[in-house]
Amino acid sequence: MLNVSKIKAITLDLDDTLWPVEPTIARAEQALADWLVQHAPTTASLLQDGAMRNQLRMAVNAAHPEAAHDFSALRLAYLLRALTHAGDDPALAHPAFEVFFAARQRVDLYPDALAALAALAARFPVVAVSNGNADVHKVGLGDFFVGSVSAQSVGVAKPHMFIFHAAARSVQCAPDEVLHVGDDAQLDVLGALDAGMQAAWVNRDAKVWAHAQNPHLSISDMSQLCAALGLRV
Ligand SMILES: [Mg+2]
Repeated sequence: MLNVSKIKAITLDLDDTLWPVEPTIARAEQALADWLVQHAPTTASLLQDGAMRNQLRMAVNAAHPEAAHDFSALRLAYLLRALTHAGDDPALAHPAFEVFFAARQRVDLYPDALAALAALAARFPVVAVSNGNADVHKVGLGDFFVGSVSAQSVGVAKPHMFIFHAAARSVQCAPDEVLHVGDDAQLDVLGALDAGMQAAWVNRDAKVWAHAQNPHLSISDMSQLCAALGLRV
């Protein structure tokens, strides 16, 4: 059961909570592929090969264990390696990454997301907590957030309690004064519970909850969250 009177701030997951991430990444991959065809065609054809992509990815992951939670750094290192391997100019890694990163910030919000976010932000400080590299300002939702905490900025990823505690600290709240909202059972719900927060599970596809600890609230979209908090959308 949600204890609404205790909540002083909301921390909010982004990918698959406010927008579906899969089409966003697919679009960004396509934008990058199109750019490479124009500017680094040898690399572009190299990366057509799925086995080669896997090999590069594994090599990058092995070479950069320190960046395991930093998708931007890994993607940049991957592009650098691909360009070098193909014999193209490695200096193209940065502009290529920028093409991907810009496209990655173009998201199609779930239909319930914008109104719910506005209602939440009018009542609570809202902090973005994401393992990914979406930027709420670049996505166009910056006005609704008082801050952002990412795996990249904190150095550990959800479900580690440090990232949740960093988010709570950023709004001068104790963990038990924060409600975390997210779609991922493990990363969001169990992570937030472990950090001492209340947790709301955004379960858009009617998945079955399969863990010993339960979320304080399960909802199928963000408007149900607002209803549970007594907010008018
Ligand atoms: Mg998510």
